[in-house]
Amino acid sequence: MNIHEYQGKKILKSFGVRIQEGIVVATPEKAVDAAKELQKQTGTGWWVIKAQIHAGGRGKGGGVKLAKSLNEVKTIADQILGMQLVTHQTGPEGKKVNKVLIAQDVYYPGESETKEYYMGVLLDRATGRNIIMYSPEGGVDIEGVAENTPELIFKEEIDPKVGLQGFQARKIAFNLGLSGAAMKDMVKFVFALYAAYEGTDATMFEINPVLKTSDHKILAVDSKVNLDDNALFRHPDYKELRDITEEDPIEVEARRFDLNYVKLDGNVGCMVNGAGLAMATMDMIKMSGGDPANFLDVGGTANAKRVEEAFRIILKDPNVKAILVNIFGGIVRCDRVAQGIVDAYQNIDNINVPIIVRLQGTNAVEGKELIDKSGLKVFSAIALQDAANLVGEVVK
Ligand code: GDP
Ligand code: MN
Repeated sequence: MNIHEYQGKKILKSFGVRIQEGIVVATPEKAVDAAKELQKQTGTGWWVIKAQIHAGGRGKGGGVKLAKSLNEVKTIADQILGMQLVTHQTGPEGKKVNKVLIAQDVYYPGESETKEYYMGVLLDRATGRNIIMYSPEGGVDIEGVAENTPELIFKEEIDPKVGLQGFQARKIAFNLGLSGAAMKDMVKFVFALYAAYEGTDATMFEINPVLKTSDHKILAVDSKVNLDDNALFRHPDYKELRDITEEDPIEVEARRFDLNYVKLDGNVGCMVNGAGLAMATMDMIKMSGGDPANFLDVGGTANAKRVEEAFRIILKDPNVKAILVNIFGGIVRCDRVAQGIVDAYQNIDNINVPIIVRLQGTNAVEGKELIDKSGLKVFSAIALQDAANLVGEVVK
């Protein structure tokens, strides 16, 4: 689950990370109130207006702007609210801005230069360990840094047995070129950030930029957070962080039925029991000349009701030209699943795409017979390759 910058910052603060303070609002009038309140709290005389959407690159896309007066706060908030913000992460259609964060300006002049760093905590799936990735060249051009000067991106691997160690945090601060008070502050920052990542069961906690202010403070100017869906049950209070206006409507619907669905761009819908089998099935579709329209794991209990809901979900995608059902009958019996498919076909009246069903395992032969006898436009197979060939023919 992705969350907004302002929500991530609130979490960071609760773990002791210093942040660029801000107040989230949905109207230009409230933006002005928020700016006044921030002036009272922080003494700031300038503000940044930041579009709250689930995508990065907002600065370059025109979704982050500096306001030097309350009047400007109002006009800029008015301009950003409601806009369809296009960034290199949104796709060409962009994302509608429903809320803006009014934040204190933290790039104020002082005795030293401000400096932007990059820091992200994430899971390195290759090693199965958390890593802290960081760079002395943070800011809006981080993709360019990774592309052109990858030697400026550092990684620190965390040993799960002992956790983040003091020498590691000091090494990070040192590699960022810090010394004195800023070095000490960075060590604290790294520990607090890592605690936030672990404490929230995040899969990613990215801060870009981490800022060194002109008076040597280290703080988080941005936050990009992904929380592990499979750990959300441990944090019931995070439910309210979900913003379904940022999510794919079909995925939102699928979650209501506990179906593990991810929308993709292809034309062959698939319904499979088990995530591994689902991925193998998607490969088979691709090799047979089709393109998967989705990932869908109906789970171990593929009963008639779930099969029907799964069909309804897949059919909401107008790109779907055929559906491949691939069920392995281990605990479930194939004839029961076959009956579920026949029932679903009769209950849903807008199925006008061919359905290819491959059942393997317990009572596979009985299941195939049931489907062949049903008289419906459903093609059955027992071998996966036969099913894939059918898919290939149908999409052609
Ligand atoms: P992103 O573009 O979506 O990653 O949004 P960020 O929150 O990272 O902001 C983008 C850029 O806006 C930062 O890299 C800064 O250059 C600029 N910015 C953010 N906060 C301030 C601020 O308080 N004052 C000034 N002058 N610029 C800021
Ligand atoms: Mn950023």
